[in-house]
Order: sequence, then structure tokens, then C-alpha cells
Amino acid sequence: MSIGLDCEKNKYYADGITRVTDPFWKVKCAKCGHTYLSCIAISNCPTCGCPDGDRFLGETPYDEVVAERGKPELNYSSRETKEHDFQSKSE
Ligand SMILES: [Zn+2]
Repeated sequence: MSIGLDCEKNKYYADGITRVTDPFWKVKCAKCGHTYLSCIAISNCPTCGCPDGDRFLGETPYDEVVAERGKPELNYSSRETKEHDFQSKSE
């Protein structure tokens, strides 16, 4: 129960909605039916490359996670980083 652990809980993967403490996404490919694991909500089937599929975050359906946390968006761009920089420098 330390502040450090609390911070860890609030960290998100690059999709912006999956916390680092969340379980893996279980994805069943919509095209070939292959089931695989992904650490973020946006993924392509490793077998056929299809981006669509039935996704579950552990036991929670994708739609429920999105309703709660918003749509996933990959944050590999520098925008997010700049905002973080700005916030930490403007305190
Ligand atoms: Zn597939």
C-alpha cells in the first residue's frame, strides 16, 4: 500500500484504455477464428492479419471496457508526451 504502487495502477498501455495491471486481451479473430492474446485493445490476428475479432479483457467484453474507459487510440505520436511534459513543467 504505497503511493508508488498506486501510480503503477494508473499506467496505461499505448492504446490509452488498458492498464498495465489489467489481464491480457483474449481475442478471437473474426476472419479465421484463431484465438490469441494481446496486451492492448488494438491488435491484428497473428495468423491472417485481420484487425477485427471478439475481444475480452479477462472476463470483460470489449464493448463494456470501451463504455467505461472510452475508445482505444494508439498513442505512439509525440502529442501525449508533450502534454505530459507541459503538465509536469507548469506546476
Ligand atoms: Zn485471423
